[in-house]
Amino acid sequence: MLALTNLSVNYGAVSALRNVDLHLQAGEVVALLGANGAGKSTVLRTISGLIRPVGGDVVYAGETLHTLSPTAIVARGVAHCPEGRRVFGGMSVLENLRLGASVRSDAAGIRSDMARMLSLFPILDERQHQSAGTLSGGEQQMLALARALMARPKVLLLDEPSLGVAPLIVRSIFATLSELRAEGVTMLLVEQNARAALALADRAYVLRTGSVALSGTAAELRGSPEIEQAYLGAGAA
Ligand code: ATP
Repeated sequence: MLALTNLSVNYGAVSALRNVDLHLQAGEVVALLGANGAGKSTVLRTISGLIRPVGGDVVYAGETLHTLSPTAIVARGVAHCPEGRRVFGGMSVLENLRLGASVRSDAAGIRSDMARMLSLFPILDERQHQSAGTLSGGEQQMLALARALMARPKVLLLDEPSLGVAPLIVRSIFATLSELRAEGVTMLLVEQNARAALALADRAYVLRTGSVALSGTAAELRGSPEIEQAYLGAGAA
C-alpha cells in the first residue's frame, strides 16, 4: 500500500536518512523505533510531503507521493499526526476538528465523524468550546489524534502519541489506536514506548542513524536481545 524505496533525505549538509526501504500493507500497523535523532520523524515528514527526498521513492497505492503537495497527500488519505501536540491553540476544540476535515466535502460524513471523535474522547466533548491552547498536554495529544482522524485517513502517520502524556491517557490513546486497527486503518507508529508500540504493531523497523538496522514481526522484535536491551529491559527509556 505504501512503499519507501532506497529513500535518502538531507537537511542541508546533514544526512538524516540513507537508503531506507520500508513498506506497509493495507491494514497493517507498523512501528518505527529508534533512538533520538535516528530519523523516525523524518520518515513521517517525508511521506507527508513536508520534506523532499534527495533520492529514492515514496509510492502510495501505485502513485508517487514525493512530488505532491502536503495537501494533495492528505486528500489521498494519508494523515500525519505530528509530534508535540501541534494543535491550533487560539481555536476551539471543535474548530480544530473541523480543520482536520478541510480536505473533505461530505458534510453529513464530517458531522457524524465529529460526533464519533467526541464520543471516542469524552474529555474533548466536555471541552468542545474551549480554546485548544488551554487544554492539558494529554488532552492536546488526543485532539491532535482526533484532528488527524477527521481526514478519515486510510493511512495514519503517528509521531510519538504517548510523549509527555500521563499513563492513564497513554492507555486511552492506545485503546483508541487498537479500535482503529480493528477498523482496518493502516498505521505507521513512531514511538519511544517500544513496549506499547510492539504490543499494538504487526511489524516493526528499527532505525539507527538514518538507516534501517533491524526489522521483523513485532513478536520477533519483542524477543530480540538487542531490542530487549535497548528498549524493553530494566533501565530502558
Ligand atoms: P526524536 O525521537 O528525537 O524526535 P527522530 O528519530 O524522530 O528523533 P529526526 O527528527 O527525524 O529524528 O531527526 C533525524 C536527524 O536529522 C537528527 O540528527 C536531527 O538533528 C536532524 N534534523 C531534523 N530536523 C532537522 C532540521 N530541520 N534541520 C537540520 N537537521 C535536522
